[in-house]
Amino acid sequence: MTKILLNILTHGDELAGLKVADTIRVLYPEIIGHGLDIQIANERAFRSSKRYIDKDLNRVFPGNPTGCYEEIIANELRSIISSYDLVVDVHSTESGSSDIVIVTKFDSNTKETLRALSPKYVLFMNILPDRSLISCARLGIAFEMGSDKAESTVTNTVKGIEFLLFQSKLIGRKEPFGLETKYFEVFGQISKSPGSLLEAEIKNFAPISKGQMFARTADGSPIFAEFDFYPVIFGNNNYETIFGFAACLRN
Ligand SMILES: [Zn+2]
Repeated sequence: MTKILLNILTHGDELAGLKVADTIRVLYPEIIGHGLDIQIANERAFRSSKRYIDKDLNRVFPGNPTGCYEEIIANELRSIISSYDLVVDVHSTESGSSDIVIVTKFDSNTKETLRALSPKYVLFMNILPDRSLISCARLGIAFEMGSDKAESTVTNTVKGIEFLLFQSKLIGRKEPFGLETKYFEVFGQISKSPGSLLEAEIKNFAPISKGQMFARTADGSPIFAEFDFYPVIFGNNNYETIFGFAACLRN
């Protein structure tokens, strides 16, 4: 039998994951512990209502038994994560982007699953070293469906998970998203100095051209793009040291 891990709260303040897990638990109690397990990744950050305690858990895999709190739990989670056929990692984002499925591998198994799932956007995070939680999974899929507060984030994530459960023959027939998927490959990060701000017209998935002014530093100096890219999970407040990620279209 296929074993699936539904992993939530990799980021302790992304409570949509908790609602997703509760929904799945209520709808399909018979498969919990019989094909589907649910795990809270960063329990302590969740209890403290924080994204993380010492370091972003999604950036410290495979972990370190003598490291900081998140490095220690990453080291413990690694063997659990790698023991499943499929790991689903639930996130939410205040970047204004939504409907994104994230993978860190693009092998045939992953591609086939994505094709069947047919979400609006796929982000292949091709950044090495891959230090994400799903990096340790045989097949890992992260849902980034929207804002933590939005009901649609929960319903869309549940829809995706239900289709994956159906595909794994754990539950009866469920429909995929059924959209014409746009695939993006993330090849880098766009760094940000303190206080710098994006230009108002910069939107996720809208291309930025080489030489285009896309942001200003704290003292108002223009920042120009050094190459063509699609901004993804981009914003002023998403990350401390980067605006977000640079991607290109991919088939
Ligand atoms: Zn997250």
